[in-house]
Amino acid sequence: MQRRQFLISIFAAALPTTIIFDSALGKAQENSFPLGKTREEWLALLGDTSFSVLFEEATERAFSSPLNGEARDGTFICKACKTPLFSSSTKYESGTGWPSFTDPIVGSVKTKVDRTLWMVRTEYHCTRCGGHQGHVFDDGPKPSGRRWCNNGAALQFVPQGAPMPEVGE
Ligand SMILES: [Zn+2]
Repeated sequence: MQRRQFLISIFAAALPTTIIFDSALGKAQENSFPLGKTREEWLALLGDTSFSVLFEEATERAFSSPLNGEARDGTFICKACKTPLFSSSTKYESGTGWPSFTDPIVGSVKTKVDRTLWMVRTEYHCTRCGGHQGHVFDDGPKPSGRRWCNNGAALQFVPQGAPMPEVGE
């Protein structure tokens, strides 16, 4: 067994077994961007950083998102398609520099195995548009024990009582 395979098998064994892997969605391919919009239209709507996180699976710099410190009641929605992903009641300060949550809103995200950067991690993305949001780890607080580590650039915060924005807002 090669060293890399050995390391991968160790990481894979350490992953929580209850996560359902979904490999149907991957990086957005050229000409297959969601909701009928082109690459250029999404780029114009989202800007460089959010576009590269959502549709190229980039990771923003730690401590770079103003949503790290967002502590109001409300909902964190997908910046691209506006699907509600996390309630503020599940947000906690993980100290990692990325907005962190204990649980997503049921059905809002799907997971898949991510083997980039010489690691096996569990990536998750918005169910509606496929946009990459972050990675989920099993070192979160009880009761879920999960840390949904999300790029702030892939999210938009809607304070409680404010209207939900439409795509493009
Ligand atoms: Zn979305």
